Amino acid sequence: MDWKSEPELVVVPKPTPGPGQVVVKVGGAGACHSDLHLMHDFEPGMMPWTTPFTLGHENAGWVDSVGEGVDTVAEGDAVAVYGPWGCGRCERCRAGAENYCENPAAAPVISGGGGLGLDGGMAEYLLVPADRLLVKLPESLAPATAAALTDAGLTPYHAIRRSWPKMTPTSTVVVIGVGGLGHLGLQLVKATTSTRVIAVDNRREALDLATEMGADEVVVSDDTAVDAIRDLTGGRGADVLLDFVGAEATIELARAAARPLGDVTIVGIAGGSVPLSFFSQPYEVSIQTTYWGSRPELTELLELAARGLVHVESTTYSLDDAAQAYRDLAAGKVRGRAVVVP
Ligand code: NAD
Ligand code: ZN
Ligand code: ZN
Repeated sequence: MDWKSEPELVVVPKPTPGPGQVVVKVGGAGACHSDLHLMHDFEPGMMPWTTPFTLGHENAGWVDSVGEGVDTVAEGDAVAVYGPWGCGRCERCRAGAENYCENPAAAPVISGGGGLGLDGGMAEYLLVPADRLLVKLPESLAPATAAALTDAGLTPYHAIRRSWPKMTPTSTVVVIGVGGLGHLGLQLVKATTSTRVIAVDNRREALDLATEMGADEVVVSDDTAVDAIRDLTGGRGADVLLDFVGAEATIELARAAARPLGDVTIVGIAGGSVPLSFFSQPYEVSIQTTYWGSRPELTELLELAARGLVHVESTTYSLDDAAQAYRDLAAGKVRGRAVVVP
């Protein structure tokens, strides 16, 4: 990919693993809406990355070959690739939260990973710079399924985990945007808490998917949505609102539909902004962002999926059709996640 352009399929050499590194034969690479933001919205120079690089930051596959000193995985092992690649040594990285590495200059790439500044998984092989970035897949999980969990699953899981204390049997969670992240997010709320879930989207097919995935209520994302959420919550508002869009309209919606003491978490990076003041939301509402998730959380999530508690709804594309996957995603035609299977 390159800035302000459409992705191209090109031939690149097969990587070989150096000391400590692993080459993964890709079994699935998810197409994330963030890639569309990267390709279309980001200005050159916004990210400290050299282009071109191969897209695909949501990957799983089988170990193809290992470099000197690698003994935690072996050829043929099915693995999920943890996507944010940090320095591996700072306090955050040691705790497994490489998404918040505090020494990015010592990481393989500044604030990125495979598919984000370095070559990613929309290819037959992916070079992973360290074996700690691989999580072995439970037997019942195929790489083509696990791929989407590494970002479309992990990102909502992290956001949800953070608000767990507010997800009680009497509370309500609103999931805004039932695409790749949202369809997994709403299932993860249902699987890990006993709270009620209202799904909000502006596509009918997305709301139908939400109902199939266990949403208790669905609401069309228009200027009646706030009243609809207040009606469904006896006037109180929702305790946790997860915004998987991040547009001005959805942030406004989330804030206006929040219950006092609630959480509004902005996960989507559509770039919306709203003015903030003491009175711009109900009392003691926390407005927060989150970025991706930690390695331990990925392990937990894979376990949940292996037990059948979360289902990845996906449409599969061949590597030759990867550009089509992105076109379909941009056109709102993807159900769940688009996954490229080389
Ligand atoms: P997606 O295209 O699969 O899903 C987006 C969904 O939002 C679609 O169902 C769409 O119909 C819906 N939507 C769009 N506008 C809406 C509106 N105004 N109201 C209600 N619903 C609306 O995208 P995705 O891959 O799930 O990514 C979602 C967002 O999250 C993107 O902005 C992406 O860049 C971002 N993201 C953030 C992180 C993070 O760590 N914070 C990680 C991954 C993705
Ligand atoms: Zn992503
Ligand atoms: Zn670090």
